[in-house]
Amino acid sequence: QPASPASPLETKSTCCYCGVGCGVIIEHDGQQITGVRGDPDHPANFGRLCTKGSTLHLTATPDSQVVRALYPELRPSREAPRARTDWDTALRHAADKFATVIREHGPNAVAFYVSGQLLTEDYYVFNKLAKGLIGTNNIDTNSRLCMSSAATGYKQTLGADSPPGCYDDLKHTDCLFLAGSNTAFAHPILFRRIEDARALNPAMKMIVVDPRRTDTAEQADLHLALLPGTDIALYNAMLHVMLWEEWIKPEYIGAHTEGFDVLRRTVREYTPAMAAEICGLTKKEIETAAEWFAHGGDASKATMSMYCMGLNQSTHGTHNNAALINLHLATAQIGKPGAGPFSLTGQPNAMGGREVGGMATLLSGHRDMDNAEHRAEVAKLWGIPSVPEQAGLTAIELFDAMAAGTVKAVWISCTNPAQSMPDQNLVRKALETCEFVVVQEAYRNTETARYADLLLPATSWGEKTGTVTNSERRISRVIQAVPAPGEARHDWDTAVDFARRLGNELGDTHTSALFPYTNEEDIWNEHRESTRGRDLDITGLSYATLEQQGPQQWPFPQGASGGKARLYEDGIYPTASGRAKFVATEHKDTVEKADARYPIRMTTGRLRDQWHGMSRTGTVARLYAHEAEPMIHMHAADIDRRGLKDGELVRVKSRRGEIVVKALASETVRPGQAFLPMHWGSNALGGLGTNALTLKSFDPYSKQPELKHSAVQISKYVPG
Ligand code: SF4
Repeated sequence: QPASPASPLETKSTCCYCGVGCGVIIEHDGQQITGVRGDPDHPANFGRLCTKGSTLHLTATPDSQVVRALYPELRPSREAPRARTDWDTALRHAADKFATVIREHGPNAVAFYVSGQLLTEDYYVFNKLAKGLIGTNNIDTNSRLCMSSAATGYKQTLGADSPPGCYDDLKHTDCLFLAGSNTAFAHPILFRRIEDARALNPAMKMIVVDPRRTDTAEQADLHLALLPGTDIALYNAMLHVMLWEEWIKPEYIGAHTEGFDVLRRTVREYTPAMAAEICGLTKKEIETAAEWFAHGGDASKATMSMYCMGLNQSTHGTHNNAALINLHLATAQIGKPGAGPFSLTGQPNAMGGREVGGMATLLSGHRDMDNAEHRAEVAKLWGIPSVPEQAGLTAIELFDAMAAGTVKAVWISCTNPAQSMPDQNLVRKALETCEFVVVQEAYRNTETARYADLLLPATSWGEKTGTVTNSERRISRVIQAVPAPGEARHDWDTAVDFARRLGNELGDTHTSALFPYTNEEDIWNEHRESTRGRDLDITGLSYATLEQQGPQQWPFPQGASGGKARLYEDGIYPTASGRAKFVATEHKDTVEKADARYPIRMTTGRLRDQWHGMSRTGTVARLYAHEAEPMIHMHAADIDRRGLKDGELVRVKSRRGEIVVKALASETVRPGQAFLPMHWGSNALGGLGTNALTLKSFDPYSKQPELKHSAVQISKYVPG
């Protein structure tokens, strides 16, 4: 129907930014997006949108679209510039290159690096392409930088990568423990729900654990401004206090858990006095946090923790998560309304990516790549003899292998590693060394697109269809409102076309049967079948159900009438014994220590109005009003000590690189600490960005790098 200007067409979809997963109504005329507003019926946001979500339509104006990739571009050699080509030539060339590398060097010489911003259907196809067709587990994702420690933390303690709670629990909690999360900036609409819950229940306590006095910490009843990387010492000391005061719940521990005796011996050492020293806190602060978390032993009250990158982006990220979950298990603060550990997802579909197994360590339906039974189940589902056994390369390992020349062809989809990966110099060397780099992107001006031998234009928000899963396990539809610009294609569609061509090149006669999809729903139906009998079983959840009943939480098995708000209410956990496991964790320092040469401990994080590498938010002028350029936030004493002025250009140097930015005097950091926003890929003088400084050391279980901490020196910038 043609629309009159007074009554734009409307399409319900989901915000493409953070893991809160707000519902949006896209206003458009069938060709052009003209507006956006919050969906009042969506259970994540009930009509509200934050600054980023409410300006989504401004990222789709003709002015903003000038940075879009509109047609395939190919460069015949590294020396030649990229030139426009047609899709057939582009994908024939890609299939030929990948097939040549596979024939000459084996399947592990190629790799895929994808994104938590892909839709579940896109993710499913890429995973099958790597593991099912090519026979390599070399597919990893930028979610490795974001959520993998939360996933391994859950698996080590509760037995499955399944966040137990839901947003609605905020209404039932008496103590909210926010750890390593500036929720007010990173998950703004969730923070509005926290404010609502506190208004309804003024007695509710809010504890914030964060080295910085963020906007979130500013509103806390108790702000624990611990030193970076000391979370485990804090949680162990809190458990020490709970044991001493007899605030733990022996009945729950005895009936539903195992491993408590080892943990009890471990935390005996962590007196509040010792932890206060390690964490830079007072004994009293630790004791108060323990009392509020355990409600002085009153189990009729509920405690919920929400946590994010401050715990995850660490070389002991898995144990940061496990140490916090230990507190919930020991006090029986789990499996009841208003209680439980709850990891917040950074990206809109980091959860969906884990569900389809789109990581080097996972397989479809929350299966594990290193489990022979799981591999056999997936091979049977896909109708192939086997899925590969050899471990795939996780994000950091993958770019190391590219730099070393062992991965010779890479396909990067919907992400910008030249900016977002730690140790930016090394990542750029990897992209230069790799013989063939495909970049599938909506934007042609990203730092990574510059390295593309083949640039493939992709559809973006408002132009594609599928599903995403938010932090509370809620699956929402994403619906196309307007046509794709130029020759852009959907990510899954390009991947299927490439798979069929590659199969032909490799002489694989089963490729058509492996990739029979004609639309997103075909892929969704295969994905949901792969979850049958698993903890995330969604065999009862069709596109039609999502359209009729709205967004739903998993599990939603066949025959169910609705999803499940809260997990583990029966105290039975998906482990071999049915019991949750305590993990005895010990304090470990950050990899880099501050020293005489690099005396400042720098953390990185988000600003309120920007998203990741700013490909999209960077096109909206009003989103620069909050913070217009990259600035390093420093304590006034550190500015004075260096003879600097507030707002002056400074040189920030780590052991890996250096950048030039302005210094900003800020009360939010302690002396000896600094904060640098993560969003800028280049600095004031056009050189490298924030991740020139960060390091690639990673957690041994989750393989997530320590983006939250590096030691730097800061000095006056002297040109020349
Ligand atoms: Fe989008 Fe997150 Fe803002 Fe909601 S809170 S509107 S999902 S950016």
